[in-house]
Amino acid sequence: MDIKESLLKRANGVCELCGSSDELDVFKVEPKDEYILVCKTCLDGLSNPDTQDINHWRCLNDSMWSEVPAVQVMAYRILKSISSEGWPQDMLDMLYLDDDTKEWAEDIEDEHSDIQPTLDSNSTILNSGDSVTIVKDLDVKGTGFTAKRGTVVKNISLTDNPEQIEGRVNGVKIVLLSKFLKKV
Ligand SMILES: [Zn+2]
Repeated sequence: MDIKESLLKRANGVCELCGSSDELDVFKVEPKDEYILVCKTCLDGLSNPDTQDINHWRCLNDSMWSEVPAVQVMAYRILKSISSEGWPQDMLDMLYLDDDTKEWAEDIEDEHSDIQPTLDSNSTILNSGDSVTIVKDLDVKGTGFTAKRGTVVKNISLTDNPEQIEGRVNGVKIVLLSKFLKKV
């Protein structure tokens, strides 16, 4: 029996999220080799979160009580992704997952994992809270002073830009280019 056949049997031939029988398909619940049966509407919503009809997910009000962990995991992930709407958060608050299932539900690739690290002049990774020395005299725009080579900047903060950090020099919070810094 292939996956779809066994899912159809488990789900009684309807979408395991919303109960529709429209164009059923198999959806893999990463990172495990487990699957749920979803209809076209649900699959579209999962594939294109930007254009999804959030109200469609009110169907999870029923399906989140499924005994199938893979369905619970998807209900949790979907509700969490739209929790700012208010009502999904209320449903999430009611949703009970055992520890293993919760771990699975939260085991999704971190969206921020592809962010570039901030590197200093030696390509050493800088983190917030690090201390660095400035390796080159730098004119600091808008302050009228030069951040001298050899100046130690303590307790730096990372910024959204991997090429820049923030730190205090002469008591002024300034943005510095990480390539002109060296981790202490
Ligand atoms: Zn559906």
